[in-house]
Amino acid sequence: MALVDCISCSKKISSKATECPHCDANLNDLSEAQLEARRDIAVIKRQQRLMTQSFVAMLVFCTGVLMYFLGDAKTYPWMPLAGQVIGTVGLVWYLALRCFMVVQKVRSR
Ligand SMILES: [Zn+2]
Repeated sequence: MALVDCISCSKKISSKATECPHCDANLNDLSEAQLEARRDIAVIKRQQRLMTQSFVAMLVFCTGVLMYFLGDAKTYPWMPLAGQVIGTVGLVWYLALRCFMVVQKVRSR
């Protein structure tokens, strides 16, 4: 028994499950073509979710950079440090997501 992604909700389920315990999708009476199409949709949805997350990560990074360079350090002395921390978090998050997306793409071939 192996764990596979549910074709409907993408959560991990048993490969022998006839029904998804998470979303109650019935996996029995689908043709192979329907299963294939559902799998493709699940992959596309996952990719879209990752793209959205990487966009948010890039926004966080840009916010950090703007705080670091444009923040008024005399009025707000914490601004450059906060900018560095937020920018670093955003950059690391973005790079991790991009690496994960490349791995996913290579695996799906
Ligand atoms: Zn499901």
